[in-house]
Amino acid sequence: MQDNARVRLREDQQLRERASKVIPGGMYGHQSVQGLPASYPQFMARGDGARVWDVDGNEYIDLMCSYGPVLLGHHHPRVEEAVAKQAALADAQNTPSARMVELAETFTSRVEHADWAMFCKNGTDATTTCVSIARAATGRRKVLVAKGAYHGSAPWCTPRIAGVTAEDRVNLIQYRYNDASSAEAAAEEAGDDLAAVMVSPIRHDLGVDLEIPDPDFATRLRRLCDRTGAALILDDVRCGLRLNNGGSWEYLGVQPDLSAWSKAIANGYALGAVLGTDALQEAARAIYVTGSFWFASVPMAASLATLQVVEEEDIVARMLKMGSALRDGMAAQAKAHGLEVCFSGPPQMPFMTFGADQNFAMAGVFSDAAMRGGVWLHPRHNWFVSGAMTEADVEQALQTTDAAFAAVAAAQ
Ligand SMILES: *Cc1c(COP(=O)(O)O)cnc(C)c1O
Repeated sequence: MQDNARVRLREDQQLRERASKVIPGGMYGHQSVQGLPASYPQFMARGDGARVWDVDGNEYIDLMCSYGPVLLGHHHPRVEEAVAKQAALADAQNTPSARMVELAETFTSRVEHADWAMFCKNGTDATTTCVSIARAATGRRKVLVAKGAYHGSAPWCTPRIAGVTAEDRVNLIQYRYNDASSAEAAAEEAGDDLAAVMVSPIRHDLGVDLEIPDPDFATRLRRLCDRTGAALILDDVRCGLRLNNGGSWEYLGVQPDLSAWSKAIANGYALGAVLGTDALQEAARAIYVTGSFWFASVPMAASLATLQVVEEEDIVARMLKMGSALRDGMAAQAKAHGLEVCFSGPPQMPFMTFGADQNFAMAGVFSDAAMRGGVWLHPRHNWFVSGAMTEADVEQALQTTDAAFAAVAAAQ
């Protein structure tokens, strides 16, 4: 297996050797393939629709979508056209372009709770800005976060403690996702110092089955914030535009005061957004947040095109359909191979775990075989189905997953 990977990933291996000399650890962050099976390349060359190619020319059906940023598929023609048009004018300038106003208008008309919009680069910028606004508005410090939830890589929220001080975290109080009583107890602990409650639209923690929110949980978080004057912050960075065309809790009838967006909103271009209600506009004006590239026009043009395509082509419905076909096909295959699996999450953001899988050993065998067969998914992180997936892509992916399930069954 190891030798096979070396032959298949020859160019990749050379780049890894060079990277190990000039990049800490050879790679850092969520895109490091350390800890993944040997079949995962560290470096990629290009993407087109639902397909991606590594630097050795191996082709994959992409079920990771760049860990979230790609929504419509790689190199979407309408997005690329908007990008080229804007790039021919300018990207980063002394002041923003008209695209910023157009985009703020689009978001505030699309997302129910939003009266205004601010733009930034990454999800971490957006979640951190939401917290600052909540604190500026309330003059309070404490923020409730769900245990194990990911809200970004700034010192206040990064999952690793290296380089972080206790003071960075001292104002966080944890509750359990889908457990309103635990959030109410955490609010009790914060007393009159509660600034915000942060929550993701679904539970999508690394390495565990995804959880859909209990409507009662969402309603009680809203009530808790109404009662205490704290801001309800919806971290829509990963789910935004994947579950519906507006905010991800609109179907529950629960509106946040602030929402954080990034990943998919510009189909791969670097953009984050904070949306908020009028009641928080003054606080949003009071804080100072900015960045050299926050006002760049090309990602905003990409986002405008993305939002247009999402609506016109009913992308959410398409992702749902293809994701469901993939999940149903895989579930039948697992059964036929005598394997117990659990599918969780919305079909657009599916995840699969094996029953009684010690240390993700079975998921490792499965994802390794899938990669060799040209399907890029992940053993511990939720997957993403793009709007570019076709029935033929699903069909082809299912041929590979059938062989991957066979490999898992054989390894038992
Ligand atoms: C990815 C992610 C973030 C952080 O976004 P970055 O763009 O990586 O800074 C925050 N919240 C959620 C839910 C995410 O999935």
